[in-house]
Amino acid sequence: MDLFEYQGKQYFARYGIAVSPGDVADTVEAAIAVAERVGYPVVVKAQVKVGGRGKAGGVKLANNVDEVRTHAGNILGLDIKGHVVRRLWIERSSDIAKEYYASFTLDRPNKTHLGMLSAQGGVEIEIVAEENPEAIAFLSIDPVRGLDLATSRRWVAEAELDEVAREQTAELLVKLYDCYTEGDCDLAEINPLILTPEGVVHALDAKVTLDENASFRHPEWEAFREDEFEDPREKMAKAKGLNYIGLDGTVGIIANGAGLAMSTLDVVNQVGGTAANFLDIGGGANADVMAAALELINADPKVKSIFVNIFGGITRVDEVAQGVLEALERVKITSPIVLRLDGTNAEAGRALLAPHVSANLMTEPTMLDAARRAVALAK
Ligand code: GDP
Ligand code: MN
Repeated sequence: MDLFEYQGKQYFARYGIAVSPGDVADTVEAAIAVAERVGYPVVVKAQVKVGGRGKAGGVKLANNVDEVRTHAGNILGLDIKGHVVRRLWIERSSDIAKEYYASFTLDRPNKTHLGMLSAQGGVEIEIVAEENPEAIAFLSIDPVRGLDLATSRRWVAEAELDEVAREQTAELLVKLYDCYTEGDCDLAEINPLILTPEGVVHALDAKVTLDENASFRHPEWEAFREDEFEDPREKMAKAKGLNYIGLDGTVGIIANGAGLAMSTLDVVNQVGGTAANFLDIGGGANADVMAAALELINADPKVKSIFVNIFGGITRVDEVAQGVLEALERVKITSPIVLRLDGTNAEAGRALLAPHVSANLMTEPTMLDAARRAVALAK
Protein backbone atom coordinates (compact mmCIF):
# COMPACT_ATOMS: atom_id res chain seq x y z
CA MET A 1 0.00 0.00 0.00
CA ASP A 2 1.33 3.41 -1.00
CA LEU A 3 0.90 6.17 1.55
CA PHE A 4 0.06 9.79 0.91
CA GLU A 5 2.87 12.19 1.77
CA TYR A 6 1.14 13.30 4.98
CA GLN A 7 0.70 9.68 6.07
CA GLY A 8 4.34 8.98 5.24
CA LYS A 9 5.33 11.93 7.39
CA GLN A 10 3.20 10.61 10.26
CA TYR A 11 5.00 7.31 9.84
CA PHE A 12 8.42 8.98 9.81
CA ALA A 13 7.59 10.94 12.94
CA ARG A 14 6.94 7.70 14.78
CA TYR A 15 10.58 6.77 14.22
CA GLY A 16 11.94 10.12 15.35
CA ILE A 17 12.39 11.68 11.92
CA ALA A 18 11.51 15.36 12.19
CA VAL A 19 8.99 16.77 9.72
CA SER A 20 7.55 20.27 9.38
CA PRO A 21 4.49 21.19 11.44
CA GLY A 22 1.34 21.02 9.34
CA ASP A 23 -2.05 19.43 8.81
CA VAL A 24 -4.37 18.12 6.12
CA ALA A 25 -7.23 20.12 4.58
CA ASP A 26 -9.99 19.03 2.19
CA THR A 27 -11.37 22.51 1.51
CA VAL A 28 -10.00 26.01 0.90
CA GLU A 29 -11.42 27.18 4.26
CA ALA A 30 -9.76 24.31 6.08
CA ALA A 31 -6.47 25.08 4.31
CA ILE A 32 -6.64 28.68 5.49
CA ALA A 33 -7.35 27.55 9.05
CA VAL A 34 -4.28 25.29 9.00
CA ALA A 35 -2.09 28.03 7.55
CA GLU A 36 -3.20 30.51 10.21
CA ARG A 37 -2.38 27.93 12.85
CA VAL A 38 1.10 26.89 11.63
CA GLY A 39 2.14 30.41 10.59
CA TYR A 40 3.30 31.91 7.28
CA PRO A 41 4.93 31.24 4.93
CA VAL A 42 3.38 27.83 4.26
CA VAL A 43 3.62 25.29 1.45
CA VAL A 44 0.33 24.05 -0.02
CA LYS A 45 0.83 20.48 -1.25
CA ALA A 46 -1.43 18.23 -3.32
CA GLN A 47 -1.92 14.83 -1.71
CA VAL A 48 -1.90 12.31 -4.54
CA LYS A 49 -0.07 9.03 -4.74
CA VAL A 50 2.14 10.02 -7.64
CA GLY A 51 5.50 11.78 -7.88
CA GLY A 52 6.35 15.02 -9.66
CA ARG A 53 3.65 17.05 -7.96
CA GLY A 54 5.94 20.07 -7.85
CA LYS A 55 6.39 20.15 -11.62
CA ALA A 56 2.65 19.62 -12.15
CA GLY A 57 1.76 22.72 -10.12
CA GLY A 58 0.73 20.75 -7.04
CA VAL A 59 3.21 22.33 -4.61
CA LYS A 60 2.98 26.08 -4.00
CA LEU A 61 4.42 28.54 -1.54
CA ALA A 62 1.95 30.90 0.15
CA ASN A 63 2.99 33.99 2.11
CA ASN A 64 -0.44 35.12 3.27
CA VAL A 65 -4.09 34.17 3.48
CA ASP A 66 -4.87 35.36 -0.06
CA GLU A 67 -2.12 33.22 -1.52
CA VAL A 68 -3.35 30.20 0.44
CA ARG A 69 -6.86 30.79 -0.89
CA THR A 70 -5.60 31.05 -4.48
CA HIS A 71 -3.27 28.05 -4.36
CA ALA A 72 -5.60 25.80 -2.37
CA GLY A 73 -8.41 26.65 -4.78
CA ASN A 74 -6.24 25.88 -7.79
CA ILE A 75 -4.74 22.67 -6.46
CA LEU A 76 -7.95 21.08 -5.12
CA GLY A 77 -9.52 19.28 -8.07
CA LEU A 78 -6.31 19.47 -10.11
CA ASP A 79 -5.59 16.37 -12.18
CA ILE A 80 -2.01 15.21 -11.66
CA LYS A 81 -1.17 12.34 -13.99
CA GLY A 82 -4.71 10.99 -13.70
CA HIS A 83 -4.96 11.51 -9.93
CA VAL A 84 -7.51 14.13 -8.89
CA VAL A 85 -6.46 16.12 -5.83
CA ARG A 86 -9.03 15.87 -3.03
CA ARG A 87 -6.82 16.62 -0.07
CA LEU A 88 -4.06 19.08 0.71
CA TRP A 89 -1.20 19.04 3.16
CA ILE A 90 -0.31 22.48 4.46
CA GLU A 91 3.00 22.83 6.26
CA ARG A 92 5.30 25.51 7.50
CA SER A 93 7.65 26.42 4.67
CA SER A 94 11.36 25.69 5.03
CA ASP A 95 14.28 27.63 3.61
CA ILE A 96 16.43 25.46 1.40
CA ALA A 97 20.20 25.63 0.95
CA LYS A 98 20.65 22.13 -0.50
CA GLU A 99 18.41 19.30 -1.64
CA TYR A 100 19.54 15.71 -1.10
CA TYR A 101 17.97 12.34 -1.84
CA ALA A 102 17.74 9.32 0.49
CA SER A 103 15.89 6.03 0.23
CA PHE A 104 15.78 2.40 1.28
CA THR A 105 14.23 -0.32 -0.77
CA LEU A 106 14.62 -4.04 -1.49
CA ASP A 107 17.35 -5.36 -3.73
CA ARG A 108 15.67 -8.63 -4.60
CA PRO A 109 18.38 -10.22 -6.80
CA ASN A 110 20.99 -9.55 -4.09
CA LYS A 111 18.71 -10.52 -1.20
CA THR A 112 19.72 -7.36 0.61
CA HIS A 113 18.29 -3.96 1.37
CA LEU A 114 19.48 -1.15 -0.83
CA GLY A 115 20.18 2.36 0.39
CA MET A 116 20.49 5.20 -2.11
CA LEU A 117 21.90 8.55 -1.13
CA SER A 118 22.71 11.54 -3.27
CA ALA A 119 23.80 15.13 -2.80
CA GLN A 120 21.74 15.89 -5.90
CA GLY A 121 18.17 15.58 -4.67
CA GLY A 122 15.00 17.46 -5.48
CA VAL A 123 14.82 16.00 -8.97
CA GLU A 124 13.59 12.52 -9.78
CA ILE A 125 16.21 9.94 -8.85
CA GLU A 126 15.65 8.14 -12.16
CA ILE A 127 16.93 11.25 -13.93
CA VAL A 128 20.01 11.46 -11.68
CA ALA A 129 20.63 7.75 -12.24
CA GLU A 130 20.54 8.28 -15.98
CA GLU A 131 22.40 11.53 -16.38
CA ASN A 132 24.77 11.43 -13.45
CA PRO A 133 24.95 7.93 -11.99
CA GLU A 134 28.16 8.60 -10.03
CA ALA A 135 26.19 11.15 -8.00
CA ILE A 136 24.35 8.30 -6.22
CA ALA A 137 26.04 6.40 -3.40
CA PHE A 138 24.56 2.92 -3.19
CA LEU A 139 24.72 0.91 0.01
CA SER A 140 23.96 -2.77 0.17
CA ILE A 141 22.68 -3.71 3.63
CA ASP A 142 22.64 -7.23 4.99
CA PRO A 143 19.16 -7.48 6.57
CA VAL A 144 20.56 -9.54 9.47
CA ARG A 145 23.27 -7.05 10.35
CA GLY A 146 21.26 -3.91 9.69
CA LEU A 147 22.64 -0.40 9.43
CA ASP A 148 24.83 1.00 12.22
CA LEU A 149 25.87 4.59 12.72
CA ALA A 150 29.51 3.99 11.74
CA THR A 151 28.47 2.55 8.36
CA SER A 152 25.97 5.33 7.92
CA ARG A 153 28.73 7.93 8.53
CA ARG A 154 30.98 6.36 5.90
CA TRP A 155 28.07 6.27 3.47
CA VAL A 156 27.27 9.95 4.00
CA ALA A 157 30.92 10.84 3.37
CA GLU A 158 30.99 8.73 0.23
CA ALA A 159 27.92 10.56 -1.06
CA GLU A 160 29.85 13.81 -0.51
CA LEU A 161 27.11 15.57 1.41
CA ASP A 162 28.10 18.96 2.80
CA GLU A 163 30.24 18.65 5.94
CA VAL A 164 27.72 20.45 8.13
CA ALA A 165 24.99 17.99 7.09
CA ARG A 166 26.89 14.75 7.55
CA GLU A 167 26.41 13.82 11.20
CA GLN A 168 22.72 14.78 11.22
CA THR A 169 22.14 12.86 8.01
CA ALA A 170 23.98 9.78 9.26
CA GLU A 171 21.73 9.72 12.32
CA LEU A 172 18.61 10.39 10.28
CA LEU A 173 19.44 7.54 7.90
CA VAL A 174 19.64 5.07 10.80
CA LYS A 175 16.16 6.20 11.87
CA LEU A 176 14.89 5.96 8.32
CA TYR A 177 16.32 2.45 8.10
CA ASP A 178 14.49 1.53 11.34
CA CYS A 179 11.30 2.94 9.89
CA TYR A 180 11.86 0.94 6.73
CA THR A 181 12.59 -2.39 8.47
CA GLU A 182 10.61 -2.28 11.74
CA GLY A 183 7.88 -0.38 9.96
CA ASP A 184 7.72 -3.07 7.25
CA CYS A 185 8.12 -0.79 4.25
CA ASP A 186 8.92 -1.81 0.69
CA LEU A 187 10.12 1.72 0.11
CA ALA A 188 10.99 4.64 2.37
CA GLU A 189 12.15 7.66 0.38
CA ILE A 190 12.90 11.28 1.23
CA ASN A 191 13.24 13.60 -1.75
CA PRO A 192 14.18 16.24 -1.03
CA LEU A 193 16.01 15.80 2.21
CA ILE A 194 17.10 19.37 2.74
CA LEU A 195 19.87 21.28 4.40
CA THR A 196 18.59 24.66 5.59
CA PRO A 197 20.71 27.84 5.50
CA GLU A 198 20.92 27.46 9.30
CA GLY A 199 22.56 24.06 8.85
CA VAL A 200 19.62 21.82 9.81
CA VAL A 201 18.87 18.59 7.92
CA HIS A 202 15.14 18.04 7.44
CA ALA A 203 12.73 15.80 5.50
CA LEU A 204 10.53 17.82 3.11
CA ASP A 205 8.81 14.97 1.35
CA ALA A 206 7.87 11.38 2.24
CA LYS A 207 7.24 8.49 -0.07
CA VAL A 208 6.38 5.28 1.76
CA THR A 209 5.14 1.97 0.44
CA LEU A 210 4.02 -0.50 3.12
CA ASP A 211 4.51 -4.22 2.66
CA GLU A 212 0.95 -5.57 2.85
CA ASN A 213 2.26 -9.03 3.73
CA ALA A 214 3.12 -7.58 7.13
CA SER A 215 -0.25 -5.94 7.78
CA PHE A 216 -1.10 -8.64 10.35
CA ARG A 217 1.38 -7.06 12.77
CA HIS A 218 0.30 -3.50 12.08
CA PRO A 219 -3.28 -2.93 13.20
CA GLU A 220 -2.45 0.78 13.09
CA TRP A 221 -2.29 0.65 9.28
CA GLU A 222 -6.12 0.51 9.26
CA ALA A 223 -6.13 4.26 9.84
CA PHE A 224 -4.15 4.76 6.62
CA ARG A 225 -6.62 2.62 4.75
CA GLU A 226 -9.63 4.52 6.05
CA ASP A 227 -8.12 7.70 4.68
CA GLU A 228 -8.02 6.29 1.17
CA PHE A 229 -10.46 7.69 -1.32
CA GLU A 230 -11.63 4.36 -2.57
CA ASP A 231 -13.92 3.50 -5.41
CA PRO A 232 -17.33 3.42 -3.59
CA ARG A 233 -18.05 0.05 -5.25
CA GLU A 234 -14.84 -1.38 -3.82
CA LYS A 235 -15.71 0.02 -0.40
CA MET A 236 -19.08 -1.72 -0.54
CA ALA A 237 -17.42 -4.96 -1.70
CA LYS A 238 -14.93 -4.85 1.16
CA ALA A 239 -17.75 -4.41 3.65
CA LYS A 240 -19.37 -7.55 2.23
CA GLY A 241 -16.13 -9.51 2.18
CA LEU A 242 -16.06 -9.84 -1.61
CA ASN A 243 -12.94 -9.98 -3.75
CA TYR A 244 -13.87 -7.17 -6.14
CA ILE A 245 -12.11 -4.68 -8.39
CA GLY A 246 -14.14 -2.01 -10.17
CA LEU A 247 -13.54 -1.42 -13.89
CA ASP A 248 -15.09 0.86 -16.50
CA GLY A 249 -17.08 -1.49 -18.75
CA THR A 250 -20.73 -2.52 -19.01
CA VAL A 251 -20.72 -6.29 -18.41
CA GLY A 252 -20.85 -7.19 -14.72
CA ILE A 253 -18.90 -10.34 -13.96
CA ILE A 254 -19.25 -12.98 -11.25
CA ALA A 255 -16.97 -16.01 -11.34
CA ASN A 256 -15.63 -18.54 -8.88
CA GLY A 257 -11.87 -18.52 -8.61
CA ALA A 258 -9.48 -15.72 -9.52
CA GLY A 259 -8.23 -17.59 -12.60
CA LEU A 260 -11.69 -18.10 -14.00
CA ALA A 261 -12.60 -14.49 -13.22
CA MET A 262 -9.55 -13.31 -15.18
CA SER A 263 -10.41 -15.59 -18.09
CA THR A 264 -13.95 -14.27 -18.04
CA LEU A 265 -12.66 -10.72 -18.46
CA ASP A 266 -10.53 -11.92 -21.37
CA VAL A 267 -13.41 -13.68 -23.10
CA VAL A 268 -15.71 -10.69 -22.67
CA ASN A 269 -13.02 -8.53 -24.27
CA GLN A 270 -12.42 -11.06 -27.00
CA VAL A 271 -16.03 -10.87 -28.16
CA GLY A 272 -16.01 -7.09 -28.17
CA GLY A 273 -17.36 -6.27 -24.74
CA THR A 274 -15.97 -4.47 -21.72
CA ALA A 275 -16.02 -5.76 -18.15
CA ALA A 276 -17.51 -3.60 -15.41
CA ASN A 277 -15.58 -5.40 -12.73
CA PHE A 278 -13.54 -8.33 -11.55
CA LEU A 279 -15.35 -10.39 -8.93
CA ASP A 280 -14.21 -13.72 -7.59
CA ILE A 281 -16.76 -15.24 -5.22
CA GLY A 282 -14.36 -18.04 -4.29
CA GLY A 283 -15.53 -21.47 -3.30
CA GLY A 284 -18.56 -20.60 -1.21
CA ALA A 285 -21.16 -19.67 -3.80
CA ASN A 286 -24.13 -19.95 -1.47
CA ALA A 287 -27.19 -17.69 -1.57
CA ASP A 288 -25.68 -15.12 0.80
CA VAL A 289 -22.54 -14.67 -1.27
CA MET A 290 -24.49 -14.69 -4.53
CA ALA A 291 -27.02 -12.16 -3.24
CA ALA A 292 -24.21 -9.88 -2.06
CA ALA A 293 -22.40 -10.21 -5.39
CA LEU A 294 -25.51 -9.53 -7.48
CA GLU A 295 -26.52 -6.61 -5.30
CA LEU A 296 -23.07 -5.05 -5.61
CA ILE A 297 -22.97 -5.36 -9.38
CA ASN A 298 -26.56 -4.19 -9.72
CA ALA A 299 -25.70 -1.01 -7.82
CA ASP A 300 -23.17 -0.06 -10.52
CA PRO A 301 -25.06 2.27 -12.91
CA LYS A 302 -22.76 1.39 -15.83
CA VAL A 303 -23.70 -2.30 -15.77
CA LYS A 304 -26.02 -3.36 -18.62
CA SER A 305 -25.80 -7.16 -18.26
CA ILE A 306 -24.43 -9.66 -15.75
CA PHE A 307 -22.36 -12.67 -16.70
CA VAL A 308 -22.22 -15.39 -14.02
CA ASN A 309 -19.49 -17.85 -14.91
CA ILE A 310 -19.22 -20.86 -12.59
CA PHE A 311 -17.13 -23.94 -12.96
CA GLY A 312 -17.99 -26.39 -10.21
CA GLY A 313 -15.09 -28.25 -8.70
CA ILE A 314 -15.50 -28.71 -4.98
CA THR A 315 -18.29 -26.17 -5.27
CA ARG A 316 -21.37 -27.98 -6.58
CA VAL A 317 -23.17 -26.24 -9.43
CA ASP A 318 -26.65 -27.21 -8.16
CA GLU A 319 -25.86 -25.38 -4.93
CA VAL A 320 -24.75 -22.38 -6.91
CA ALA A 321 -27.96 -22.45 -8.94
CA GLN A 322 -29.96 -22.69 -5.74
CA GLY A 323 -27.97 -19.74 -4.42
CA VAL A 324 -28.75 -17.67 -7.52
CA LEU A 325 -32.49 -18.42 -7.23
CA GLU A 326 -32.59 -17.57 -3.54
CA ALA A 327 -30.57 -14.43 -4.16
CA LEU A 328 -33.02 -13.31 -6.86
CA GLU A 329 -35.88 -13.67 -4.39
CA ARG A 330 -34.08 -11.33 -2.02
CA VAL A 331 -32.69 -8.66 -4.32
CA LYS A 332 -34.27 -6.97 -7.30
CA ILE A 333 -31.83 -7.10 -10.21
CA THR A 334 -32.37 -4.66 -13.07
CA SER A 335 -29.90 -6.09 -15.63
CA PRO A 336 -30.37 -9.39 -17.48
CA ILE A 337 -28.29 -12.27 -16.14
CA VAL A 338 -26.52 -14.80 -18.35
CA LEU A 339 -25.28 -17.93 -16.60
CA ARG A 340 -22.73 -20.44 -17.73
CA LEU A 341 -22.68 -23.37 -15.34
CA ASP A 342 -20.30 -26.24 -15.80
CA GLY A 343 -18.46 -28.86 -13.75
CA THR A 344 -19.68 -30.84 -10.76
CA ASN A 345 -23.49 -31.36 -10.83
CA ALA A 346 -23.88 -28.94 -13.77
CA GLU A 347 -26.86 -30.89 -15.18
CA ALA A 348 -28.71 -30.70 -11.89
CA GLY A 349 -27.90 -27.01 -11.63
CA ARG A 350 -29.24 -26.20 -15.08
CA ALA A 351 -32.36 -28.28 -14.38
CA LEU A 352 -33.01 -26.22 -11.25
CA LEU A 353 -32.80 -23.02 -13.25
CA ALA A 354 -34.80 -24.23 -16.28
CA PRO A 355 -38.28 -23.29 -14.94
CA HIS A 356 -37.04 -19.78 -14.12
CA VAL A 357 -35.49 -18.95 -17.47
CA SER A 358 -36.77 -15.63 -18.87
CA ALA A 359 -35.58 -12.58 -20.75
CA ASN A 360 -33.80 -11.60 -17.57
CA LEU A 361 -32.29 -14.96 -16.66
CA MET A 362 -30.76 -17.26 -19.24
CA THR A 363 -28.19 -20.00 -19.45
CA GLU A 364 -25.65 -20.74 -22.14
CA PRO A 365 -23.76 -24.01 -22.59
CA THR A 366 -20.25 -22.55 -22.98
CA MET A 367 -18.24 -19.66 -21.68
CA LEU A 368 -17.87 -18.19 -25.17
CA ASP A 369 -21.61 -18.40 -25.91
CA ALA A 370 -22.43 -16.83 -22.58
CA ALA A 371 -19.90 -14.04 -23.16
CA ARG A 372 -21.42 -13.29 -26.60
CA ARG A 373 -24.91 -13.18 -25.14
CA ALA A 374 -23.93 -10.96 -22.22
CA VAL A 375 -22.01 -8.60 -24.51
CA ALA A 376 -24.91 -8.41 -26.98
CA LEU A 377 -27.28 -7.57 -24.12
CA ALA A 378 -24.94 -4.84 -22.92
CA LYS A 379 -24.91 -3.07 -26.29
P1 GDP B 1 7.12 16.12 -5.51
O1 GDP B 1 7.36 17.05 -6.64
O2 GDP B 1 5.85 15.35 -5.70
O3 GDP B 1 8.28 15.22 -5.23
O4 GDP B 1 6.87 17.04 -4.20
P2 GDP B 1 7.92 17.58 -3.11
O5 GDP B 1 7.30 17.50 -1.78
O6 GDP B 1 9.24 16.92 -3.25
O7 GDP B 1 8.04 19.11 -3.50
C1 GDP B 1 8.58 19.51 -4.75
C2 GDP B 1 9.55 20.63 -4.58
O8 GDP B 1 8.93 21.75 -3.96
C3 GDP B 1 10.73 20.31 -3.67
O9 GDP B 1 11.76 19.65 -4.36
C4 GDP B 1 11.14 21.67 -3.22
O10 GDP B 1 12.03 22.25 -4.15
C5 GDP B 1 9.86 22.46 -3.20
N1 GDP B 1 9.40 22.59 -1.80
C6 GDP B 1 8.68 21.71 -1.09
N2 GDP B 1 8.54 22.12 0.19
C7 GDP B 1 9.18 23.31 0.26
C8 GDP B 1 9.40 24.26 1.33
O11 GDP B 1 8.99 24.10 2.48
N3 GDP B 1 10.11 25.38 1.02
C9 GDP B 1 10.60 25.61 -0.23
N4 GDP B 1 11.29 26.73 -0.44
N5 GDP B 1 10.42 24.74 -1.25
C10 GDP B 1 9.72 23.62 -1.00
MN1 MN C 1 9.56 14.85 -3.72
